[in-house]
Amino acid sequence: MLPLVALVGRPNVGKSTLFNALTRSRDALVHDQPGVTRDRHYGVCRPEGQRTFAVVDTGGIAGESEHLVEGLLGATARQARAAAAEADLVLFIVDGREGASALDDEILAWLRKTARPTMLVINKTDGIDTQAALNDFARYGFSEVVAISSAHRQGIDELIDEVIGRLPDEGASNELDDDPSRIRIAFIGRPNVGKSTLVNRLLGEERMIASEVPGTTRDSVAIDMERDGRRYRLIDTAGLRRKSRVDEAVEKFSIIKTLQAIEQCQVAVVMLDAGEGVTDQDASVLGYALDAGRALVVAVNKWDGQSDYQRQQAESLLSRKLSFVEWAEAVRISAKHGSGLGELFKAIHRAHASATHEFSTSEVTKAMEIAYETNPPPVVRGHVAKLRYAHPAASNPPTFVVHGNRLRTLSESYKRYLENFFRKRFKLVGTPIRFVFKEGV
Ligand code: GDP
Ligand code: GDP
Repeated sequence: MLPLVALVGRPNVGKSTLFNALTRSRDALVHDQPGVTRDRHYGVCRPEGQRTFAVVDTGGIAGESEHLVEGLLGATARQARAAAAEADLVLFIVDGREGASALDDEILAWLRKTARPTMLVINKTDGIDTQAALNDFARYGFSEVVAISSAHRQGIDELIDEVIGRLPDEGASNELDDDPSRIRIAFIGRPNVGKSTLVNRLLGEERMIASEVPGTTRDSVAIDMERDGRRYRLIDTAGLRRKSRVDEAVEKFSIIKTLQAIEQCQVAVVMLDAGEGVTDQDASVLGYALDAGRALVVAVNKWDGQSDYQRQQAESLLSRKLSFVEWAEAVRISAKHGSGLGELFKAIHRAHASATHEFSTSEVTKAMEIAYETNPPPVVRGHVAKLRYAHPAASNPPTFVVHGNRLRTLSESYKRYLENFFRKRFKLVGTPIRFVFKEGV
C-alpha cells in the first residue's frame, strides 16, 4: 500500500519547493518528457532502494486563518485538507528564518485536532544559526525535529529517512500480487472518461466469476475476473465502485487512489474521452504512470459518439499529444457498446508480455554492441563515451545496465537512440524501458 505524507504549513514556508525536492524524478529522461503536465499538489517520492510514498502539498489549506478550519476554497483545498486529515504522516513545515508566527500556532492547533502523526520540519535553515531556529520552535514540543533547506536540497535525504522510519508498518507483503496467473490491471483516468462504465461492462459480461478480493488496508479493493479464459485482477479505482456508493469520502481521494492503483497494477490502462482529446489532467495521469514505470495502454473511449470528421480530428490530435508515449498502444473503444474490448485486451497482453520479458545477458550485450557500432556517440568537448557491455537488471519495466567509460558525456538524445534501438530489436510495446549507466567495468 502506498503511504501518504502531507505537507502542511502557512504560505511561503517552502512547501512547494520541498514537494518538488521530494517528488521530482532524478531521471531527467523520465521527468522532463515534453507533453507531460505535472500536478503541483500530488506526487510520489521514490527514494532509491527505499519505500515509495505519496506526497500531497496541501498548499492552500492554511490560507488565511479563518479559512483554516471552515473556509472551503474550492475542490483542491477541500481535497488537500481531507488528505492531510487522512495522511499517515504530516510534515508541519515552518520557516526557520522568520521563526514561529501566530499562523503557525493556529495550524499546530488544527493539526493537534486531526491527531495525525506529525513531524516538525524547519525549512530555510541555509546560512542561519540552526540551533537558534530549533530553540525558537522548541515550545511546540515536538520530540523529532528536522532542519532542512529545500531550496538547496540540504537535509532532504535525512528527512526522507526520518519519514520512512515513521510510516506505519508495511504489514505482510502486498496481498494483491499473490496470484501470478492474473495480470493486474488498473483502469485510470480523470472523472467521466468512462471507467465505471467499462468496468461494469466487463464485470457484467463475467459476473458469475468475478469476485471481490478483500483488501488489507484502507479502502483497498480489487476484483478478480476472467475473460476468454484468461485471468485478471482489476485494481481498485473509483470505477470499481457502484456510482451510488461513491460518496464524497471516495471522491476526494481520487488522485491518491489513482496513485495507489498505479503502484499496485502491472498494466495501467489510461482512459481518454475521444471527444475531449488529451487534457492537462489526462497528461498528468499519464505522467504518474510513466514515473512509476508501468506498462501502459491508452484506451480512447466514447469512439461511438464521433462522426467520421471528428474521428479524423481526434486521430491527429491524439498522435500529436501522445507522442511522448508513442511506444504505448492506443486502442479505440466504446465502453457503452462494448466495442474494441477484444483489441484492448490484446494490447494489455502485449504490454504485459513486453514488460515482464526475461532477457539474457548475451542478447542484451549483443544489442548494445550493434547499437554502438551502427551509431557511436559523438565526441563531446574532446571526449567520447565508450560502451563496453550491458546486462538486464530488472523487469517491469525492463531495465538494462550499460557499462562503459565517460558515460557522463552521453547526451539525452543518444540515450533516446539506445532506447529506441532496444525497443525495435526486442519488439517491446506498451512498456517504458530504463537504462542505468555504470562507469568502468
Ligand atoms: P509555499 O508557499 O509554502 O509553497 O512556499 P514556496 O515553496 O513557494 O517558497 C516560498 C519562497 O521561499 C520561495 O521564494 C522559495 O524560493 C523560498 N524558499 C523555499 N525553500 C527555501 C529554503 O530552503 N531556503 C531559502 N533561503 N529559501 C527558500
Ligand atoms: P468515470 O467517471 O470515468 O467512471 O465515467 P463513467 O463511467 O461514469 O461515464 C461518464 C459518462 O460517460 C456517463 O454518462 C457514461 O454513460 C458516458 N460514457 C461512458 N462510456 C461511454 C461510451 O463508450 N460512449 C458514450 N457515448 N458515452 C459513454
